[in-house]
Amino acid sequence: MHPHFRTLLAAVLLVLSACTSSDVKDLNDQAEPVEDISIAHVNDQIDNQSYSNCEEVYSTHLSMELTVNFDEKKLIGFVKHDIENITGTTTMIFDVNQLSIDKVVLDDNEPTQFVIGNYDDVKGSPMEVTVKPETKSVTIYYSTQPNSKALQWLAPQQTAGKKFPYLFTQGEAVLTRTWIPCQDTPQNRITYDATLQVPSNLLALMAADNNPTEKNTEGKYAYTMDIPIPTYLIALAVGDLEFQATGERTGVYASPVLLEAATYEFAEVEEMIKVTESLYGDYQWGRYDILVLPTSFPYGGMENPKLTFATPTIITGDRSLVSLIAHELAHSWSGNLVTNATWDDFWLNEGFTVYIENRIMEAIHGKEHADMLFSIEYEELEIENEEILAGEFPGDSKLKLELEGRDPDDGMTTIAYIKGALFLKTLEDLVGRAKFDPFVKSYFADHQFQTLTTEAFILYLNDKLLTPNELTFNTDEWIYGEGIPVNSVKITSDRFDRVEEKDKLIPGMESTDMLGLSQSIWSTQEWMHFVRQIPKETTLNEFEMLEDDFSFSQSGNAEIQAEWFIRSIKQERIDPIKKEMEEFLIRVGRRKFLEPIYEELMKSEEGFAFATEVYAKARPNYHSISYQTIDEILGWEVEKG
Ligand SMILES: [Zn+2]
Repeated sequence: MHPHFRTLLAAVLLVLSACTSSDVKDLNDQAEPVEDISIAHVNDQIDNQSYSNCEEVYSTHLSMELTVNFDEKKLIGFVKHDIENITGTTTMIFDVNQLSIDKVVLDDNEPTQFVIGNYDDVKGSPMEVTVKPETKSVTIYYSTQPNSKALQWLAPQQTAGKKFPYLFTQGEAVLTRTWIPCQDTPQNRITYDATLQVPSNLLALMAADNNPTEKNTEGKYAYTMDIPIPTYLIALAVGDLEFQATGERTGVYASPVLLEAATYEFAEVEEMIKVTESLYGDYQWGRYDILVLPTSFPYGGMENPKLTFATPTIITGDRSLVSLIAHELAHSWSGNLVTNATWDDFWLNEGFTVYIENRIMEAIHGKEHADMLFSIEYEELEIENEEILAGEFPGDSKLKLELEGRDPDDGMTTIAYIKGALFLKTLEDLVGRAKFDPFVKSYFADHQFQTLTTEAFILYLNDKLLTPNELTFNTDEWIYGEGIPVNSVKITSDRFDRVEEKDKLIPGMESTDMLGLSQSIWSTQEWMHFVRQIPKETTLNEFEMLEDDFSFSQSGNAEIQAEWFIRSIKQERIDPIKKEMEEFLIRVGRRKFLEPIYEELMKSEEGFAFATEVYAKARPNYHSISYQTIDEILGWEVEKG
């Protein structure tokens, strides 16, 4: 730490966009003499996934001017960083990943030197720019590469409308540096503005204010984001999009062919916002719009502020998968308002978000429904937890991760999400909602627009909840221990118990009439559970009966299709579903579906041959986040460009 740093600390804390976690700085200043669990982990606050030296000099605001060139699959332009040099350093380090840097200038066009260091597959390269202590801004002229990892360029036939190309970005965790040279660490919050030039037949949107609701003839759009955010939340999408309002502050953007269905599906959003506000304080981001992405979008959703990105695979016509929207909305508090300081603290973003998502669903649809939703996820946690414990990195089953030298993507498991939420549910169970809800609300209020380490959270938990109530809790075991502690609350679902009664009737059935399911109206989750629980002793003939009567392979619902494919492969029933699986694997790029299907296929020779054949066709339709995972599963060799 630079000697000047501490005296300047107070000034830094005054601005919301402080470079590193203020709590961590406080902790550092008083840490040495105290014997405390937090001390042992204090060094974890370093963001190993970024080269930036934002503890010396940091960006406060970005101004971007970019042209979106679909022919060359490039963004071309510049980004100007307003900077705060707190130590008077003469080097400012940015994160870049396979960007072509043309030139760098300071302030009013004053040329300066820059050096791009060694390339790392995950982190990219450090770009060291020579600055002066008095420098106020650094402007970087650059263009992206056609294969920049954050960007997916889609041909018209890969979109819902099939007429126009599409571009979207996915920044989390460390991919923003593949399209914007920046200090790409969640510890630095920035505001930004942007001007985009796109083909005039397309609409361009950003996670910002001033999103257009109609195309203009010049194809030129301008945006501002006045609320300081971490760089992983900067997002852009360009396509043939239309807008439909769903409330005063809510709306949906989608391809014209999907707009009506999407508007119907997401009609509950305003109610979700009100529920969350009543629990955790005001929604602070102004608008909440949802953008429906093409099927190749690698995630279910991404909580880009003011503009959630969502997969179209949740549009089922019956609003049965909208808990995903509750999840992305919940990030407006956990993640976007209070942000993990490093990717090792990822559970602070996702564990809280899954917990809140479930509270929103309970408030709107009742406890039975919420328990069913959580049970589906708990089943997934149990399986993945066992796999992690038996694998190369059993430590990945801890909430606090140690991912130095690895891809932060490795930490995006159900541990952060579901074990994280279970930890909070168990705490809630201990103290009761009358105390727990105000605690979570003040946690957000006290840390809003800041970043937080796990250790700072533990101090806060002890200080505000456990100690005042004279309670002890095995916090350390939950956070620094492997697996799921025995005191975890058990979430069960009565509705799933009834589903399992039907499953038991399958072996030996003469027809599916015996299940008495024809009149039954089940939710997506009940059908998923039904398929998951089909008994091992079920014969191929009985599988065919189920397929004939329920058409799982051709279900328009991707969740049910995926469950059916996985359960069928487990039963060595690959041949009858090859056609439908191939269509699915080529069309859908959501990693959550792809990963278990490919993994299951890899377990047999027939499956491996099929997976390899399909993947050659499907891979060009996947975003880098998905194909990197599947490359690994299949041992796919890619020629490095
Ligand atoms: Zn999330």
